[in-house]
Amino acid sequence: MELLRVENLTKTYGKGENEVRALDGVTFSVKKGEFIAIIGPSGSGKSTLLHILGGVDKPTSGKVYVDGQDVYAKNDEQLAVFRRRQVGLIYQFYNLIPVLNVIENITLPVLMDGRKVNNERLEELLETLNLKGRENHLPNQLSGGQQQRVSIGRALINAPAVVLADEPTGNLDSKNSQEIIELLKLSNKKYNQTLIIVTHDENIALQAQRIIAIEDGKITRDEVIGR
Ligand code: ADP
Ligand code: ADP
Repeated sequence: MELLRVENLTKTYGKGENEVRALDGVTFSVKKGEFIAIIGPSGSGKSTLLHILGGVDKPTSGKVYVDGQDVYAKNDEQLAVFRRRQVGLIYQFYNLIPVLNVIENITLPVLMDGRKVNNERLEELLETLNLKGRENHLPNQLSGGQQQRVSIGRALINAPAVVLADEPTGNLDSKNSQEIIELLKLSNKKYNQTLIIVTHDENIALQAQRIIAIEDGKITRDEVIGR
Protein backbone atom coordinates (compact mmCIF):
# COMPACT_ATOMS: atom_id res chain seq x y z
CA MET A 1 0.00 0.00 0.00
CA GLU A 2 1.34 3.39 -0.99
CA LEU A 3 1.71 5.82 1.88
CA LEU A 4 3.74 8.63 0.44
CA ARG A 5 4.40 9.93 -3.05
CA VAL A 6 6.38 12.86 -4.37
CA GLU A 7 6.01 14.03 -7.94
CA ASN A 8 8.54 16.09 -9.81
CA LEU A 9 9.70 18.05 -6.77
CA THR A 10 11.89 21.06 -7.30
CA LYS A 11 13.24 23.45 -4.73
CA THR A 12 15.27 26.54 -5.44
CA TYR A 13 16.74 28.91 -2.90
CA GLY A 14 17.66 32.51 -3.70
CA LYS A 15 17.16 34.46 -6.91
CA GLY A 16 19.00 35.37 -10.10
CA GLU A 17 22.70 34.57 -10.07
CA ASN A 18 22.43 33.49 -6.41
CA GLU A 19 19.85 30.83 -7.24
CA VAL A 20 20.60 27.36 -5.89
CA ARG A 21 18.64 24.41 -7.21
CA ALA A 22 18.50 22.09 -4.20
CA LEU A 23 16.02 19.62 -5.74
CA ASP A 24 15.56 19.08 -9.43
CA GLY A 25 12.67 16.82 -10.47
CA VAL A 26 12.49 14.25 -7.68
CA THR A 27 9.82 11.55 -8.03
CA PHE A 28 9.30 8.40 -5.97
CA SER A 29 6.72 6.60 -3.92
CA VAL A 30 6.96 4.84 -0.57
CA LYS A 31 4.94 1.97 0.83
CA LYS A 32 3.46 1.87 4.28
CA GLY A 33 6.02 0.38 6.67
CA GLU A 34 8.98 0.77 4.32
CA PHE A 35 12.43 1.59 5.75
CA ILE A 36 14.43 3.79 3.37
CA ALA A 37 17.91 5.26 3.64
CA ILE A 38 18.65 8.43 1.70
CA ILE A 39 22.31 8.86 0.90
CA GLY A 40 24.41 11.29 -1.13
CA PRO A 41 27.16 13.88 -0.84
CA SER A 42 26.87 16.93 1.37
CA GLY A 43 24.81 19.65 -0.31
CA SER A 44 22.99 17.22 -2.64
CA GLY A 45 19.52 18.11 -1.33
CA LYS A 46 18.83 15.36 1.24
CA SER A 47 17.79 17.65 4.13
CA THR A 48 15.73 19.79 1.79
CA LEU A 49 13.86 16.68 0.63
CA LEU A 50 13.25 15.50 4.19
CA HIS A 51 11.96 18.91 5.26
CA ILE A 52 9.58 19.02 2.30
CA LEU A 53 8.29 15.52 3.18
CA GLY A 54 7.81 16.68 6.77
CA GLY A 55 5.73 19.71 5.85
CA VAL A 56 8.31 22.20 7.12
CA ASP A 57 9.66 23.57 3.83
CA LYS A 58 7.47 24.29 0.80
CA PRO A 59 8.60 22.93 -2.56
CA THR A 60 9.07 25.44 -5.40
CA SER A 61 7.06 23.08 -7.60
CA GLY A 62 5.81 19.50 -7.53
CA LYS A 63 3.53 17.56 -5.23
CA VAL A 64 3.76 15.66 -1.96
CA TYR A 65 1.01 13.21 -1.05
CA VAL A 66 0.89 11.54 2.35
CA ASP A 67 -1.92 9.08 3.01
CA GLY A 68 -3.71 10.40 -0.05
CA GLN A 69 -3.54 14.02 1.12
CA ASP A 70 -1.94 16.74 -0.96
CA VAL A 71 0.30 18.17 1.78
CA TYR A 72 0.93 21.59 0.27
CA ALA A 73 -2.71 22.14 -0.69
CA LYS A 74 -3.38 22.49 3.05
CA ASN A 75 -3.74 25.87 4.72
CA ASP A 76 -1.25 26.85 7.45
CA GLU A 77 -3.34 25.47 10.28
CA GLN A 78 -3.97 22.14 8.52
CA LEU A 79 -0.26 21.95 7.74
CA ALA A 80 0.61 22.49 11.41
CA VAL A 81 -1.72 19.64 12.39
CA PHE A 82 -0.13 17.45 9.69
CA ARG A 83 3.32 18.15 11.15
CA ARG A 84 2.26 17.23 14.67
CA ARG A 85 0.22 14.11 13.89
CA GLN A 86 1.26 12.55 10.61
CA VAL A 87 5.03 12.89 10.69
CA GLY A 88 7.77 12.66 13.30
CA LEU A 89 10.97 14.58 12.58
CA ILE A 90 14.31 13.73 14.17
CA TYR A 91 17.36 15.96 13.72
CA GLN A 92 21.12 15.50 14.09
CA PHE A 93 21.33 18.00 16.95
CA TYR A 94 18.07 16.90 18.65
CA ASN A 95 16.36 20.33 18.57
CA LEU A 96 15.04 19.89 22.10
CA ILE A 97 13.71 22.88 24.01
CA PRO A 98 16.41 23.64 26.64
CA VAL A 99 14.06 24.94 29.35
CA LEU A 100 11.69 21.94 29.15
CA ASN A 101 12.36 18.63 30.88
CA VAL A 102 12.23 15.16 29.29
CA ILE A 103 8.49 14.65 29.79
CA GLU A 104 7.67 18.18 28.62
CA ASN A 105 9.80 17.85 25.49
CA ILE A 106 8.27 14.48 24.58
CA THR A 107 4.65 15.53 25.15
CA LEU A 108 4.94 18.93 23.45
CA PRO A 109 3.30 17.83 20.16
CA VAL A 110 0.32 16.42 22.09
CA LEU A 111 -0.13 19.53 24.24
CA MET A 112 0.26 21.86 21.25
CA ASP A 113 -2.52 19.89 19.64
CA GLY A 114 -4.73 20.68 22.63
CA ARG A 115 -5.05 16.99 23.45
CA LYS A 116 -4.56 15.01 26.62
CA VAL A 117 -1.44 12.91 27.08
CA ASN A 118 -2.11 9.17 27.08
CA ASN A 119 -0.11 8.24 30.18
CA GLU A 120 0.04 4.58 29.26
CA ARG A 121 1.58 5.48 25.90
CA LEU A 122 4.00 7.87 27.60
CA GLU A 123 5.09 5.24 30.17
CA GLU A 124 5.57 2.64 27.44
CA LEU A 125 7.61 5.10 25.42
CA LEU A 126 9.83 6.08 28.39
CA GLU A 127 10.41 2.40 29.05
CA THR A 128 11.26 1.57 25.43
CA LEU A 129 13.56 4.58 25.16
CA ASN A 130 15.28 3.72 28.42
CA LEU A 131 14.52 7.13 29.89
CA LYS A 132 12.91 5.99 33.13
CA GLY A 133 14.38 7.96 36.04
CA ARG A 134 15.25 10.88 33.74
CA GLU A 135 11.74 12.32 33.49
CA ASN A 136 12.58 15.64 35.14
CA HIS A 137 16.01 16.17 33.61
CA LEU A 138 16.66 19.11 31.29
CA PRO A 139 18.38 18.43 27.94
CA ASN A 140 21.73 19.80 29.18
CA GLN A 141 21.66 17.23 32.00
CA LEU A 142 21.54 14.38 29.48
CA SER A 143 24.11 12.66 27.25
CA GLY A 144 23.86 12.99 23.47
CA GLY A 145 22.36 9.51 23.18
CA GLN A 146 19.76 10.29 25.85
CA GLN A 147 18.88 13.58 24.17
CA GLN A 148 18.37 11.80 20.87
CA ARG A 149 16.13 9.25 22.61
CA VAL A 150 14.04 12.15 23.96
CA SER A 151 13.72 13.56 20.45
CA ILE A 152 12.62 10.11 19.23
CA GLY A 153 9.98 10.14 21.98
CA ARG A 154 8.74 13.50 20.78
CA ALA A 155 8.62 12.18 17.20
CA LEU A 156 6.69 9.03 18.19
CA ILE A 157 4.29 10.28 20.86
CA ASN A 158 1.50 10.97 18.36
CA ALA A 159 2.06 7.65 16.56
CA PRO A 160 2.85 9.23 13.18
CA ALA A 161 2.56 7.30 9.93
CA VAL A 162 6.01 8.49 8.83
CA VAL A 163 9.21 9.03 10.79
CA LEU A 164 11.80 11.25 9.10
CA ALA A 165 15.29 11.31 10.57
CA ASP A 166 18.00 13.66 9.30
CA GLU A 167 21.43 12.26 10.22
CA PRO A 168 20.05 11.08 13.58
CA THR A 169 23.38 9.50 14.53
CA GLY A 170 25.66 12.17 13.08
CA ASN A 171 26.63 13.43 16.52
CA LEU A 172 26.91 10.06 18.29
CA ASP A 173 29.53 7.33 18.73
CA SER A 174 28.96 3.96 17.09
CA LYS A 175 27.42 2.27 20.15
CA ASN A 176 24.89 5.07 20.70
CA SER A 177 24.27 5.26 16.95
CA GLN A 178 23.28 1.62 16.71
CA GLU A 179 21.03 2.00 19.79
CA ILE A 180 19.19 4.85 18.10
CA ILE A 181 18.83 2.88 14.87
CA GLU A 182 17.52 -0.16 16.77
CA LEU A 183 14.85 2.02 18.43
CA LEU A 184 13.77 3.45 15.08
CA LYS A 185 13.69 -0.03 13.52
CA LEU A 186 11.64 -1.34 16.45
CA SER A 187 8.95 1.30 15.96
CA ASN A 188 9.09 0.75 12.19
CA LYS A 189 8.36 -2.97 12.63
CA LYS A 190 6.00 -2.85 15.59
CA TYR A 191 3.70 -0.18 14.17
CA ASN A 192 4.35 -0.76 10.46
CA GLN A 193 5.55 2.82 10.47
CA THR A 194 7.34 4.22 7.44
CA LEU A 195 10.92 5.17 8.29
CA ILE A 196 13.11 7.43 6.16
CA ILE A 197 16.64 8.11 7.38
CA VAL A 198 19.16 10.47 5.81
CA THR A 199 22.60 9.13 6.62
CA HIS A 200 26.27 9.27 5.71
CA ASP A 201 26.88 6.03 7.54
CA GLU A 202 27.06 3.08 5.15
CA ASN A 203 26.55 0.71 8.05
CA ILE A 204 23.17 2.29 8.71
CA ALA A 205 22.17 2.60 5.05
CA LEU A 206 22.75 -1.13 4.59
CA GLN A 207 20.20 -1.92 7.32
CA ALA A 208 17.42 -0.27 5.29
CA GLN A 209 15.16 -2.12 2.84
CA ARG A 210 15.74 0.43 0.12
CA ILE A 211 18.39 2.99 -0.70
CA ILE A 212 17.73 6.23 -2.55
CA ALA A 213 20.83 8.16 -3.59
CA ILE A 214 20.69 11.84 -4.45
CA GLU A 215 23.26 13.93 -6.28
CA ASP A 216 22.83 17.55 -7.34
CA GLY A 217 19.16 17.45 -6.42
CA LYS A 218 18.39 14.40 -8.57
CA ILE A 219 17.82 10.75 -7.72
CA THR A 220 20.74 8.74 -9.12
CA ARG A 221 19.85 5.39 -7.58
CA ASP A 222 16.70 3.88 -6.12
CA GLU A 223 17.17 0.27 -5.16
CA VAL A 224 15.50 -2.29 -2.93
CA ILE A 225 18.29 -4.04 -1.02
CA GLY A 226 16.42 -6.04 1.62
CA ARG A 227 13.26 -7.92 2.53
P1 ADP B 1 22.27 17.93 2.09
O1 ADP B 1 21.26 17.68 3.15
O2 ADP B 1 22.33 16.85 1.07
O3 ADP B 1 23.61 18.29 2.63
P2 ADP B 1 20.76 20.37 1.65
O4 ADP B 1 19.39 19.96 1.30
O5 ADP B 1 21.03 20.84 3.02
O6 ADP B 1 21.77 19.20 1.25
O7 ADP B 1 21.21 21.52 0.65
C1 ADP B 1 21.05 21.43 -0.77
C2 ADP B 1 21.53 22.75 -1.40
O8 ADP B 1 20.62 23.79 -1.04
C3 ADP B 1 22.90 23.20 -0.93
O9 ADP B 1 23.55 23.81 -2.01
C4 ADP B 1 22.59 24.18 0.16
O10 ADP B 1 23.62 25.12 0.28
C5 ADP B 1 21.32 24.82 -0.34
N1 ADP B 1 20.45 25.30 0.75
C6 ADP B 1 19.85 24.52 1.70
N2 ADP B 1 19.09 25.27 2.52
C7 ADP B 1 19.21 26.55 2.10
C8 ADP B 1 18.64 27.79 2.51
N3 ADP B 1 17.81 27.88 3.56
N4 ADP B 1 18.96 28.89 1.83
C9 ADP B 1 19.79 28.82 0.75
N5 ADP B 1 20.35 27.70 0.29
C10 ADP B 1 20.05 26.56 0.95
P1 ADP C 1 -1.80 -0.83 22.12
O1 ADP C 1 -0.85 -1.07 23.23
O2 ADP C 1 -3.01 -1.70 22.18
O3 ADP C 1 -1.14 -0.85 20.75
P2 ADP C 1 -1.62 2.02 22.37
O4 ADP C 1 -2.48 3.05 23.03
O5 ADP C 1 -0.24 1.81 22.87
O6 ADP C 1 -2.43 0.65 22.34
O7 ADP C 1 -1.52 2.40 20.84
C1 ADP C 1 -2.63 2.60 20.02
C2 ADP C 1 -2.08 2.62 18.59
O8 ADP C 1 -1.19 3.72 18.45
C3 ADP C 1 -1.26 1.38 18.30
O9 ADP C 1 -2.03 0.36 17.69
C4 ADP C 1 -0.21 1.88 17.38
O10 ADP C 1 -0.64 1.84 16.04
C5 ADP C 1 -0.02 3.32 17.78
N1 ADP C 1 1.15 3.54 18.66
C6 ADP C 1 1.23 3.40 19.99
N2 ADP C 1 2.42 3.72 20.46
C7 ADP C 1 3.15 4.07 19.40
C8 ADP C 1 4.47 4.48 19.21
N3 ADP C 1 5.33 4.63 20.20
N4 ADP C 1 4.88 4.75 17.99
C9 ADP C 1 4.06 4.63 16.96
N5 ADP C 1 2.80 4.23 17.05
C10 ADP C 1 2.34 3.95 18.25
